[in-house]
Amino acid sequence: MASGDSFYITTPIFYVNDVPHIGHAYTEVAADVLARWHRQSGDDTWLLTGTDEHGQKILRTAVANETTPKAWATKLVEEAWQPLLQTIDMSNDDFIRTTEERHETGVQRFLQHLYDEGHIYAGEYEGFYCVGCEEYKQPSDLVDGTGAFEHQKVCAIHSKPVELLQEKNYFFRMSAFQERLLDLYETRPDFIQPESVRNEIVSFVRRGLEDLSISRSTFDWGVKVPWDDDHVVYVWFDALLNYVTAAGYGQDDETLARRWPAVHLVGKDIARFHAVIWPAMLMAAGLEVPKHVFGHGWLLVGGEKMSKSKLTGIAPQDITDTFGSDAFRYYFLRAIAFGQDGSFSWEDLSARYQAELANGFGNLASRVIAMLAKYFDGAVPAAGEETAAEARIHQVVEAAVADADAAISRFAIHEAIASVWTIVDELNGYITEQQPWVLAKDDATRERLGTVLNTTAEGCARSRCCSRR
Ligand SMILES: [Zn+2]
Repeated sequence: MASGDSFYITTPIFYVNDVPHIGHAYTEVAADVLARWHRQSGDDTWLLTGTDEHGQKILRTAVANETTPKAWATKLVEEAWQPLLQTIDMSNDDFIRTTEERHETGVQRFLQHLYDEGHIYAGEYEGFYCVGCEEYKQPSDLVDGTGAFEHQKVCAIHSKPVELLQEKNYFFRMSAFQERLLDLYETRPDFIQPESVRNEIVSFVRRGLEDLSISRSTFDWGVKVPWDDDHVVYVWFDALLNYVTAAGYGQDDETLARRWPAVHLVGKDIARFHAVIWPAMLMAAGLEVPKHVFGHGWLLVGGEKMSKSKLTGIAPQDITDTFGSDAFRYYFLRAIAFGQDGSFSWEDLSARYQAELANGFGNLASRVIAMLAKYFDGAVPAAGEETAAEARIHQVVEAAVADADAAISRFAIHEAIASVWTIVDELNGYITEQQPWVLAKDDATRERLGTVLNTTAEGCARSRCCSRR
């Protein structure tokens, strides 16, 4: 990548009613590592995260808690989501709430533009609606209920009955974009990654796209449809727009032109929204589609998916309290092949922490720092004449940096870290071989001691890819 390029990366915005678990934190740290990498490379980097605060379910919980939906959302942002970002030491540049004025204004402008251009029409909709999912379900999405819901059809995700709703809706002519989307997937094969997610999306779109219902009139917690006060914008349509409203859409064209398009990191279960609906919306608005949509795998605990509705969650703080946020970030991106499903276990975390961070990198860094302090008053000495051993280190470092850079550009974060770790292993071997503590005993080998410690310190500096900038 050329230094100075725009690198705008986003995470899905948190649904405020969720309880933060390591599944949320996993997406965040992945985006964080990519952003830190690009920042260090000198790119014009912008990392966005935020919260999704509209919809019927939030209205219902707020009412149940005897408060307003906005106050309810604010409480959750302050008590759950902002603290999560602190827990994992997230380096985000912005945090957008979908109830902010900058967002709501942008959503209305976007919608009005699509309406004026004929991409939106009024129609009648009847369907099975899952309040938990905030979406209408196809009959094929429903399963037989059990227990209290026996003999009823329930949402496969929430295991709760769906509601049969009929309403006047505004529809987005998404079907008109089917060919352009297929064309996009064809001409830009890396638009959707990884391959497994891409294949699934391509065959979904090939089966045919229907128009999308984008408004609701049965409740009023949402962004008002600008030409019809009785309707609020469908929560997904509203939420997806955060990626451009946070970058200035409708208010600051210069910033938007500078940042957009973005890279979207999402869980694979919501890749369809990001790789089908979202680019169709952008095409309709005459905006560029995202650079990439990357749908990462699920985090499994004891073989089960970390789900937002089944509260099997582990709080990220349970991990950072013991291991710290740097180890948290390192572990999840090192232990799991990014893109695939991966398992979390305390045993694996603890073992990697000990072997790789403490004995590998930690031991290396602390030995070097101790020797610099002891032999050179804490300063890094100049290197003298270099031998084949130093040439070998330089070679390993250069190769690691190039390999890691290439891996990052394909979102293979785990491979980037493995590349960087070749430096750690090589330097540990180099120290053992060069025995600087022996060189330190004789004034005649003082220059050689300087060379060895210089080489080691420089190498360490190049290997801190996942640590705080
Ligand atoms: Zn559901």
